[in-house]
Amino acid sequence: MPNSQINLNSLQKNISMNDLEFKQQVLDPISDSFCAAKWYNATIWLGSGQTTSCHHPPAHAINRSEIATNPSAIHNTAQKKQDRADMQAGRRPSGCEYCWKIEDMGRDAVSDRVYKSKIYPIEALNEAAKTPAQNDINLKTLEISFDRTCNFACSYCNPAFSSTWANDIKRNGPYTNLVSDGRNHFTHTHDSSQLYTFGESNPYVDAFFQWWETDLHKNLQELRITGGEPLMSGYTWQLIDWFKSNQGRSQTRLAINSNLGMPKDKLHAFVDRVKDIPHLEIYTSNESVGVQAEYIRDGLDYELWMNNAQELLEHTDIKALHFMCTINALCLDTLPHFLTQLLRLKQTYGKQRVSFTLNILRFPSFQSALVLSDELRNNFKSVLEVWLQMFGSHPLLQEHEINHLKRLIDYLDVVKTPHSEAFDRPKLLNDFKQFYSQYDRRRDKDFCRTFPALADWYNTL
Ligand code: SF4
Repeated sequence: MPNSQINLNSLQKNISMNDLEFKQQVLDPISDSFCAAKWYNATIWLGSGQTTSCHHPPAHAINRSEIATNPSAIHNTAQKKQDRADMQAGRRPSGCEYCWKIEDMGRDAVSDRVYKSKIYPIEALNEAAKTPAQNDINLKTLEISFDRTCNFACSYCNPAFSSTWANDIKRNGPYTNLVSDGRNHFTHTHDSSQLYTFGESNPYVDAFFQWWETDLHKNLQELRITGGEPLMSGYTWQLIDWFKSNQGRSQTRLAINSNLGMPKDKLHAFVDRVKDIPHLEIYTSNESVGVQAEYIRDGLDYELWMNNAQELLEHTDIKALHFMCTINALCLDTLPHFLTQLLRLKQTYGKQRVSFTLNILRFPSFQSALVLSDELRNNFKSVLEVWLQMFGSHPLLQEHEINHLKRLIDYLDVVKTPHSEAFDRPKLLNDFKQFYSQYDRRRDKDFCRTFPALADWYNTL
């Protein structure tokens, strides 16, 4: 039987099991702490020389001298090899605390290590389990960021991921009097996040392209480029050109995260360049409409963004345009309107070609929807319930989209998801007011005028 056939069968087997069955029948027999992401998945920040296996463990440094002779060490770091050895032996790597906390809620609790493993065939999991932990492993799914250059400075982002955010801090100094931001996201320029500029020799980027040419392009299933805004990096265009001129050499699916806030000439250049790339998927972010979206995602021109999204769907063969909604305290007022706009896009361009996810923001915690008063949460929840009643059985909605909406409604339910302990809440409310009053001054914005539904509550803080 050819390999692809084996993989397809075992993947179908994964899918037919529910998540708990998969944990109990596939993962736990390998070990109580096994997670395939440590072997096959990575995010790598090439601008700062850091990596992690999924978004939960903190990023750690890539060894510069190691990559000079072994480019795969941008993924196969000493830290990950130690974590793999721990997982093979059933020990819990401390960086994966996010999953252990969930699993400690009970034997039946399903953490992300299940979802991050289930996407790979059982053969691949067994191979990871028995491969000596010191061996180098080829990735199957990879997210890379070349640098943090970005023309936006969204309120829930920070200088580590946006050069425009870094410029805000450079020009106006640190945000002050924030007491819940233990990692000091808004108090310095995070210059260690961007060690090199485009054109300057960057050993991490060199190692990536070397590994890509020799090995990575042969087996990698998905390469997703993130940023900053990746289309502002020359390296992204270099990779796009590789895919264009090496068609048939690689089965890797290319995906690009873009804020789609580029001017028309840049958009047209992009449309032209990606025309013949098969299976290309684009991810973009937004979660509200009009001036509210422009307030949250500073730098955005909503009309231009929506127009760019439509043009991309109209004039390219991209497989899908995914809208990633970061659910925060400010977006709930116009989220239903936004979802209706997405439904209209689906009507024109198709159920699968336009998709969305509702990702609940956890950090910075003072921007979480949980800071809102019970009354506001209830109001927003009710409007979303009405939207779900009206459209929940719409044939153009995908199953995960309906599930995400139900999950959000539960999250906003003050009984099902109570406020964090009394100890934290005053700090979060303090930071909400402190942050947005400084954001207004620095960015020439007006919270109360932009969010009239929140103004009375905001003024009491
Ligand atoms: S165990 Fe959890 S935190 Fe660790 S890599 Fe897997 S999914 Fe991520």
